[in-house]
Amino acid sequence: MAETAADHLATIRDRIAAAEDESGRAKGKVTLIAVSKTFDAPDIQPVIDAGQRIFGENRVQEAQGKWPAMKEAHPDIELHLIGPLQSNKARDAVALFDAIHTIDRDKIARAVKAEMEAQGRDLKLFVQINTGDEPQKAGVSPDEADAFIRRCREEVGLTITGLMCIPPVEETPAPHFALLAKIAERNGLACLSMGMSGDFETAIAHGATHVRVGSAIFGSRSYPA
Ligand SMILES: *Cc1c(COP(=O)(O)O)cnc(C)c1O
Repeated sequence: MAETAADHLATIRDRIAAAEDESGRAKGKVTLIAVSKTFDAPDIQPVIDAGQRIFGENRVQEAQGKWPAMKEAHPDIELHLIGPLQSNKARDAVALFDAIHTIDRDKIARAVKAEMEAQGRDLKLFVQINTGDEPQKAGVSPDEADAFIRRCREEVGLTITGLMCIPPVEETPAPHFALLAKIAERNGLACLSMGMSGDFETAIAHGATHVRVGSAIFGSRSYPA
């Protein structure tokens, strides 16, 4: 019989535990974010039934179409926004998500702060760093990271949980993970959102606290996200 998403989930959990072990890290400390973008409720439900409670989506509107009902049925589900956020979507994002990994502009930082206050919600917030300085990619340039984090904290009044990166596809990811860890350390940030299906073990070896795994659980996506 073909392997199900629940089988894949079990395999990924084992591989995370093994990677924690190999890098001498405490067991069970890495948070698995199951990235369900492009998949609908019938594909996601078996993964919820298998005990997974933390999910990632990259589009606010897509998430609004499928998650409110599943969150209502399972109030302990935690939803993470891992894709770019436009300030005109800040209200919807703060209402639906429990964490945002893509804070990368003053305007977004201010919009999220205002919405959290207006809605009385307190989301976990990660600053996205464009570790490869790729012109087409979202995120703060490594050179500007310290100043941006300081402005988020001191001027906007945000509590920043950690940093997030997506290494350039054509490069070996390890140096990017190491750079993210270094920026986090000098800014006193405990959490690192890094590592996807193809490289989460490397990310764990470099200190990832949150890995974002999609296709290795749900299968390949039928359209690009
Ligand atoms: C889609 C996506 C992932 C998951 O990628 P896979 O290679 O399918 O594991 C992780 N992070 C971000 C930001 C994504 O958009």
